Amino acid sequence: MANQQGNRPDVIVVGAGIIGLSTAFLLQRSGFQVLVLDRKGPAAEASQGNAGAFAFSEVIPLATPATVSKAPKWLLDPLGPLSIRPQYAIRLAPWMYRFWRASRPAKVDQGIRAQSALMTHSKQALLPFLKLTATGNMLRRDGNLQLYESAAEFEASRAYWDARKQLGIPFEHIHGSYALSEIQPGLNKRLKSGTLTPEWYSISDPHEYTLTIADIFRNRGGEIEIVDAQSLSTTAKNATVHGTGGQTFTADRVVICSGAWSHILARTIGDRIPLETERGYNTTLPSPGFELKAQLTFGGHGFVVSTIGTGIRVGGAVEFGGLEAPPNFARADTLLAKAKQFLPELQIEDGTRWMGFRPSLPDTLPVIGPSPRSDRVIYAFGHGHLGLTQSAGTAELVTELVNGSPSSIDLEPYRADRF
Ligand SMILES: Cc1cc2nc3c(=O)[nH]c(=O)nc-3n(C[C@H](O)[C@H](O)[C@H](O)COP(=O)(O)OP(=O)(O)OC[C@H]3O[C@@H](n4cnc5c(N)ncnc54)[C@H](O)[C@@H]3O)c2cc1C
Repeated sequence: MANQQGNRPDVIVVGAGIIGLSTAFLLQRSGFQVLVLDRKGPAAEASQGNAGAFAFSEVIPLATPATVSKAPKWLLDPLGPLSIRPQYAIRLAPWMYRFWRASRPAKVDQGIRAQSALMTHSKQALLPFLKLTATGNMLRRDGNLQLYESAAEFEASRAYWDARKQLGIPFEHIHGSYALSEIQPGLNKRLKSGTLTPEWYSISDPHEYTLTIADIFRNRGGEIEIVDAQSLSTTAKNATVHGTGGQTFTADRVVICSGAWSHILARTIGDRIPLETERGYNTTLPSPGFELKAQLTFGGHGFVVSTIGTGIRVGGAVEFGGLEAPPNFARADTLLAKAKQFLPELQIEDGTRWMGFRPSLPDTLPVIGPSPRSDRVIYAFGHGHLGLTQSAGTAELVTELVNGSPSSIDLEPYRADRF
């Protein structure tokens, strides 16, 4: 649908992950001709292999005084929950400095308010979105059980639960291994307490969900083209995407939903956005021999255990190593070995390992809004650990922007030039 052929789209979305496809679908429903460009095709990156959670209670930024104080200990373990590839440390320094600045108490409070507004909006947007895409059958309402090994670990988390309480997020603390086993049988007795968050939903399979949205978009006449976008250019009336093969695609608006690669395109029109990737790992077990009653989160070890399709996925961790370095699957193996300790009956054979690039900004908030250089380009990226959770909400916000209608929430905290 290159504009040279006269069949000019109203909006081009660059990126066919869950953010780009949800956005493309809602724009299409609003009456726009939408063209999606992706260099690999739908669900090729982070949206393919994530843990499938709609983690609406995750309103606490990653940058907090608690994370900053725990980080040195985590970094000492090369396969621990947080790692920095030594050769990447210098490149990461400016991002880490911003992360540290975002962990100051006043900034954390601001971050909680902004994340909470986006979460409330995203939660409200989800069910109508699932209805429109006829994907409601993929939703699970199992909740999440966060588990703690010691009273000290539980106490350390309490302040953030109190903050959630103030925001009206429902949860229940559970103490003692017997009470825990009533919710999730088969846990190691070493686990002393937990917190159950009932309004934490999940999707049966994030890959299938994203591909289904792509199919629905196509079935309604939308086009998805395989194009590697190299740069952007703008005029007062439109924006153009230039492909690495010399192709050009022009529309009234271009929406950048290119996940962990978005800042590279933004830079081509002069916007410098401190996007990093937090690489995450997991293993999907086809025959786990274990039934999960809820998603399980092991916060102290940085991993989650989720039901995906008819299997179980064990994964998490954060590795800073940029977009080029090959995966280090020893990380996935370490998480699996830990999961086996906590869930002794889990069968950990025959798993498939995966690594994905979370697109992350230092204050844990995404960028949603127009480029400061040109309102012809709209950004919607940087959702970090929460892109699936915030996908329907983000798609609604972008659709409002393109329509020129009032925004459901104040977009100031998500501005591209806030850094
Ligand atoms: C281990 C792990 C577990 C996670 N668990 C959860 C979870 O349970 N819940 C949750 O909400 N989130 C989770 N996340 C985060 C979530 O997966 C991401 O936030 C989300 O998938 C980001 O979606 P996206 O559409 O922005 O990016 P992506 O899915 O990465 O899509 C970006 C797309 O842009 C394309 N692209 C990039 N550059 C270009 C270019 N120049 N030209 C053309 N195409 C381009 C890519 O090919 C890709 O298809 C997890 C992430 C990981 C790694």
